[in-house]
Amino acid sequence: MSATNYGLSEKQQKVFKGIKERLNASIKEGIAKTNRLPWNSKIIESLGLPTRINGEKYKGKNVWIFSAEAIAKGYTSNTWIGYKEAARRGGQVRKGEKATTGVNRYWAPFRCKANCAIPNHCIEATGEDYRIRIDAETGKPIGKMRLTWFNVFNSDQIDWSEAKGGKPCHIPTGSEFESEEYADKILKAYLDKTGVTFREVPIGDQNPHYNPNSDTVNLPLKVQFEEASAYYSAAFHEIGHSTSKEGRVHRVFNYGMHKERGLEEMSVEWAAAYLQNWCGIKGAEDAEKESTAYIQSWSNAIDKDPDLIFDAMDMADRISNFILKQCEDC
Ligand SMILES: [Zn+2]
Ligand SMILES: [Zn+2]
Repeated sequence: MSATNYGLSEKQQKVFKGIKERLNASIKEGIAKTNRLPWNSKIIESLGLPTRINGEKYKGKNVWIFSAEAIAKGYTSNTWIGYKEAARRGGQVRKGEKATTGVNRYWAPFRCKANCAIPNHCIEATGEDYRIRIDAETGKPIGKMRLTWFNVFNSDQIDWSEAKGGKPCHIPTGSEFESEEYADKILKAYLDKTGVTFREVPIGDQNPHYNPNSDTVNLPLKVQFEEASAYYSAAFHEIGHSTSKEGRVHRVFNYGMHKERGLEEMSVEWAAAYLQNWCGIKGAEDAEKESTAYIQSWSNAIDKDPDLIFDAMDMADRISNFILKQCEDC
């Protein structure tokens, strides 16, 4: 999977490119500053996933666009607000502060006239004054990806001294115990719905891995992990790989190819980090993942392929959504 322009206009592509460049830069800045990859960062655990000022969580790429920026800039908050909304609440964006651009990508159908009578051309759009174009052969709606973007500021970039309620903040809640129960629920629902086999085998036998031929996730015994969080991190990572099977978030990759392997590993790492943060599970210490060599290898991969992060985030978003979707009340 390479860079795709999603059928965007030239102007949209330019904005998209700017967002990409900024994200790559903030990720590298964050790595240099904290010596950790963003998805292994302890910072997001304490700040929580990025939220709008009303407490609503950001989704998709925005999760990491804002988190990477918060890490790079050393913000003490992961709450983001538009200029006008901040002013409405008595906050003033400090002079010289730059906004961060988030993206919303959505699919929009091609429209046709409300009174169109061409056979096999379009179908009714409920409650709209237009009809939706369809593919004459398949009868399915056709359209294209559209992109909008928005600019927001971190709460730290705003002077809240005049605000009535003071500085807004959203600190994640929930105890470790509840978090683990929640993570178990997500795992169980996923395994039940997909039929993936989940085996816990004593250490020494093998490293955590997913076997696509038998559709089996193999992990060491839970008690063999030094911290419970390491168990969940590995479990989310490996079930992330298992979503590659056809009928799930199907993707084909050649594990022998460095680039394809890198994309797959980065995708499942982002997805696992998102799920872990979603459950409120703190990341475990992991000497290997914190080693200079490991971090440098990712840093080099980002340099070599500027689309890697964006492509991986796209995939991570689909993977984590697919996993969460299996759990009805998660
Ligand atoms: Zn029509
Ligand atoms: Zn892996």
